[in-house]
Amino acid sequence: MKIDLNEIALKPVPEADIDTSVEGDELAGVNAGSFTAEKVEPFVLKCEKGVGDVFSICGNTVISGHMPCDRCLEDTPVSVEVDIDRSFPVIDDQIVEDIDDPLSALSEGVLDVCGLLAEEVLMELPVKVLCNADCKGLCPICGKNRNIVECDCDREVLDPRMQKFLDVFKEV
Ligand SMILES: [Zn+2]
Ligand SMILES: [Zn+2]
Repeated sequence: MKIDLNEIALKPVPEADIDTSVEGDELAGVNAGSFTAEKVEPFVLKCEKGVGDVFSICGNTVISGHMPCDRCLEDTPVSVEVDIDRSFPVIDDQIVEDIDDPLSALSEGVLDVCGLLAEEVLMELPVKVLCNADCKGLCPICGKNRNIVECDCDREVLDPRMQKFLDVFKEV
């Protein structure tokens, strides 16, 4: 979904509430990092040219999808709330990118909504995702998912002190 912000800025009353929805193939444009988007709650994007020739967009939505569990790599549901609040300078009737807060989803005044959402999602993603607080993770020897199969690998060969060291690393 693309919105021509310049068009709104040039209207006699330079504002618009745009019903925004991202569906179907467009959802792939919202993917960010290891996050795969599945659903974007429809929301209203408020666009407005205010005093001082500043054009602002704001809106709020919830994006749900999945990303791999930190330990076993299984797809794990994740949903993030994004709060859009951006403003851009208007120079000679043209909306330009704010050099202090660049947005690649804005090109010549045309906003790519999916690109904007992807950028917002990236900032909100949890640092660590677990499919389950007790996830046993992958076996370090055979690589099998230990939540599903109990392999016969001898993991005790590791020096317990070494194991503690590795656990500390996992917590980071
Ligand atoms: Zn897991
Ligand atoms: Zn194993």
